[in-house]
Amino acid sequence: MSSVASNLALIERRIAGAAARVDRRPDEIRLLPVTKTKAPEIVREAYAAGYRRFGENKVQEASAKAEVLSDVADIEWAVIGHLQTNKAREVARFATEFQALDSLRIAKELDKRLQREGRRLEVLVQINSSGEDQKFGLPPNEVAAFTRELSDFDALDVRGLMTLAVFTNDHERVAACFDVMNRVRAELRDLDGGGWDELSMGMSGDFELAIEHGATCVRVGQAIFGDRLDPNDYWPGI
Ligand SMILES: *Cc1c(COP(=O)(O)O)cnc(C)c1O
Repeated sequence: MSSVASNLALIERRIAGAAARVDRRPDEIRLLPVTKTKAPEIVREAYAAGYRRFGENKVQEASAKAEVLSDVADIEWAVIGHLQTNKAREVARFATEFQALDSLRIAKELDKRLQREGRRLEVLVQINSSGEDQKFGLPPNEVAAFTRELSDFDALDVRGLMTLAVFTNDHERVAACFDVMNRVRAELRDLDGGGWDELSMGMSGDFELAIEHGATCVRVGQAIFGDRLDPNDYWPGI
């Protein structure tokens, strides 16, 4: 087994362990391997281990990788990073999922481009659950009003919410972010009578805690593929 395959298996076991602690089924939780900075050959290893959808945070890198891996018929890409309007067209071409929607301008642009391509896109609304200035995402109290407007965009399949929790070893502060997400989702479900099933939260350092707090998707990079600190490891040399 490759180290990527064995790391993936290990993360799946940790996911199952966290789920069991709160009486959840492991199949309620999707592991999204995050392959940013990693070469296409590494993505192939994860593909060989059974994974089909991969997370990338930069459009240019993701789209270049999608091109190199276009021989793999059923591979799918999730863009998980903040998007500028001028990149919407590219995302509409190759992505299956976009987890970082936080503006109507982007929603409108994506919808327009998707209609043109005859494609659809699964979408998660990003929430700034920590209140940190430097974080992308909508403030929790603006989410309900924002989501009212999304029904205008036929090519967007709005599935749920995404967040990056505060980056700290203080579990209580991290858990507080996940609690905000559960509160926002409950509010949206009240308004809509259901839906909003996806809660994408949890990364290498906090995915087990996220699962204990209801995550349905965990985005894990370094714990599978090793760290990405050395710029020389980056693909394609960016
Ligand atoms: C990079 C990234 C991840 C994965 O982080 P790791 O610490 O490598 O697990 C998750 N979500 C987003 C939005 C990211 O950019």
